[in-house]
Amino acid sequence: MRYGTKKTLPHRDTTRMINIGGVVIGGGNPIAIQSMTNTETSDVDATVAQILELEKAGCQIIRSTANTEAAAKAFDKIKEQIHIPIVADIHFDYRLAILAMEYGADKIRINPGNIGGEENLKKVVKVAKERNIPIRVGVNSGSLERNLVEKYGGVTAEGIVESALDKVRMIEECDYDNLVISIKSSDVMMCVHAHELIAEQSSYPLHVGITEAGTVYRGNIKSAVGLGMILGQGIGDTMRVSLTGDPVEEITSAKLILRTLGLRKDGIELVSCPTCGRTKIDLIGLANDVEKLIAGYDHLSIKVAVMGCAVNGPGEAREADLGIAGGNGEGLLMRHGEIIKKVPQENLLAALKYELDHWEEE
Ligand code: SF4
Repeated sequence: MRYGTKKTLPHRDTTRMINIGGVVIGGGNPIAIQSMTNTETSDVDATVAQILELEKAGCQIIRSTANTEAAAKAFDKIKEQIHIPIVADIHFDYRLAILAMEYGADKIRINPGNIGGEENLKKVVKVAKERNIPIRVGVNSGSLERNLVEKYGGVTAEGIVESALDKVRMIEECDYDNLVISIKSSDVMMCVHAHELIAEQSSYPLHVGITEAGTVYRGNIKSAVGLGMILGQGIGDTMRVSLTGDPVEEITSAKLILRTLGLRKDGIELVSCPTCGRTKIDLIGLANDVEKLIAGYDHLSIKVAVMGCAVNGPGEAREADLGIAGGNGEGLLMRHGEIIKKVPQENLLAALKYELDHWEEE
């Protein structure tokens, strides 16, 4: 066996570096944010449109299913029109993995256990090796092998890790180690434990995520808790927040999780008060409008506070670079805790926008 070296955490700085179509992950590189298209891949126009939207939101690596011959053959046309690496997601049919690579996939995601046996795996690895295309070995708790379920008395973190390392070994035995591992479980605590275990046993970069996390609200909470625990331990080289919703939401959430953990510096941090009986302006509406506004200022690395009243607001916003404290139908605009001016409620958003637009001129 030679799947990585045993080491102590934090893991991320010591994982091996893998180049996915120009985006290098592992070895302490920034954690790359991924998402997956939900268009039919063979519909090139729709898929490209969605990828461009995801790129704009901050997606750094995109995955699309290569579930048919037409889908696999669409990869080169899609690639011509996008600016981030594209990963082909393969299930069952090794020929589609080969086709997707021939048509330009920058990485393939396979489960070596479900593409029809060792001979087929060898054929896939041969093409990956010739083209130096990384393979992501993906294992999901839902498809854990029966022998491992029996061995561990059910689906367990230990079983998931053993399954993943077995699959990695299958590829290593084909003399290929340009690999990324992903292990997934919708059980958050099992997923966290599995990542802790695999980080101790392998130095391949890890793609982390909580699979089938759910709708936007529930999925965000499960992902924030799970990914917070995983990434907070220094584990994870690329990530996806899986949501049953618009994939753009996945990017927004991933960026926020990374920023909250201090793993990403760009973008505005928003703090806002929960409102109380002192609030005399529509602070909830205003905070939501500010949240939308700041999405367009990822180049600024500052803190903005939106507080409900002039009693505690200025004090609580003192730590922020820019702040609003509500009054009676109006608000105070603050910069570095100093009051700049009073602004009618209806003009607060525009006043804040003006400050953001001119922030770098300061
Ligand atoms: Fe209430 Fe003012 Fe505190 Fe907001 S900042 S919770 S309005 S006291």
